[in-house]
Amino acid sequence: MRSLTKTNAFIDGHWVPVEQRFAVTNPATGEVVAEVADADATLAERAVEAAKNALPGWRKKTPHERAELLRRWFNSMLSNKQALAELMCAEQGKPVAEAAAEIEYGASFVEWFAAEAERSYGDVLPLQSPDKRVWITKQGVGVCAAITPWNFPNAMITRKVAPALAAGCTMVVKPPQLTPLSALAIAQLASEVGIPDGVINIVPSTDAKSIGGVLTEHPDVRKFSFTGSTAVGKKLMQQCASTVKKVSFELGGNAPFIVFDDADIELAVEQLLICKFRNAGQTCISANRILVQEKVLDKFVNTLKSEMEKLKVAPGTADEVDYGPLIDQDAIDKVKRLVADAREQGAECLTGGKVLDEVGELFYAPTLLTGVTSTMDIAQEEIFGPVVAVQTFDTEEEGIRKANATPFGLAGYFCAEDYRRIERVSSELECGMLGINAGAISHAYNAFGGVKESGIGREGSRYGLAEYQETKTLTLGGF
Ligand code: ADP
Repeated sequence: MRSLTKTNAFIDGHWVPVEQRFAVTNPATGEVVAEVADADATLAERAVEAAKNALPGWRKKTPHERAELLRRWFNSMLSNKQALAELMCAEQGKPVAEAAAEIEYGASFVEWFAAEAERSYGDVLPLQSPDKRVWITKQGVGVCAAITPWNFPNAMITRKVAPALAAGCTMVVKPPQLTPLSALAIAQLASEVGIPDGVINIVPSTDAKSIGGVLTEHPDVRKFSFTGSTAVGKKLMQQCASTVKKVSFELGGNAPFIVFDDADIELAVEQLLICKFRNAGQTCISANRILVQEKVLDKFVNTLKSEMEKLKVAPGTADEVDYGPLIDQDAIDKVKRLVADAREQGAECLTGGKVLDEVGELFYAPTLLTGVTSTMDIAQEEIFGPVVAVQTFDTEEEGIRKANATPFGLAGYFCAEDYRRIERVSSELECGMLGINAGAISHAYNAFGGVKESGIGREGSRYGLAEYQETKTLTLGGF
């Protein structure tokens, strides 16, 4: 199998070496996987320049020509799936099989947007006034920039780059410091399949602030897209205001997972396990607050506990692993702090509650807490770890009120069977995405994004393409 480990910055179709390097380590073993180029602001400016120069040629291609190249990129990601998955496992820690599933998921955005762009129609208005004709057209916004997080090293990039390229835009990406290799590997594949120089540029760096400054304030960048924490997102949004960029922000969540008393409990447990333990709980749509109606608490908790005790935690290269290490020591420290605080305040730990030192220092046990209350830190912060924190509620109205009592509104989940309740609760919950008896809700065809402080804009679906397009109105007179 070929190696796709690339370690330099990728600008204008060239691998640009930088003397300053930073280490990427394997969270399962602590070993250094690679030393990567540490780009500075000047290099980020060069990348914007390259994207600007590549724009006219790329924009002039027909949507079909761009789609052909995107489909080749999609196919190349799939034919290199195993190599990409192993690289991702090495830098991020998720099990190889889960990493391979992410490659498929990430690639699916490329295929999806190739097709979407070919069917992106404008409007011909019906006659409004006898002396004029009006058309509303769609155009790519121009040079785009993105900053992405480490939890989905492939897919967080493709779901920004694919719609941008499909719409006729060019792109500069700053990948996360912890997982730049997956980003650089797919840039290599893009280049191999013939995506022209300068259309995709990647600037790995430890100096997120400086690179972020260029990408959010450079007048030639017309669109900025970010996935990461709400705190950083708010700063970057302010920076984008200086040049009134079009923006998309996919920020933190605090997802409720509500189990009503009419739920199918086995199904609820099954879906919660999928939702909670994917990527060791390190996703922004992980169920964070498990709200269970009192009547079904015992049955739900007993079923869940016995399923959680079957989970296998091991390095991602082992067979049949349910989840691997957390990303770094800070992540472990945060989970430890939240669990300790909850226990001090009266929560009961039914299983787990500790680091699995026998596996490695970044492996945390599947943990089930009951007796959690809404004022505890664990109910207010994103846990980003394999901890199920169960609260209870009495009436449907109370369950909804508790679920909405947060400044965030990314994903929400609930389990119920009564179709009237399903309709009522769906319309009341303040979230951008709802999983109803479903714990897996991310697909290229779905509109991903949040309300409230969880963000602006949508990724995936036909709405994800519109984020990279401007609407232009043409009024033709003289009739
Ligand atoms: P997390 O690491 O929890 O996913 P962050 O918001 O810290 O969330 O990081 C998401 C991305 O934002 C990463 O690529 C990181 O390097 C980048 N980042 C962090 N701080 C800044 C900043 N001040 N300016 C620009 N980018 C930043």
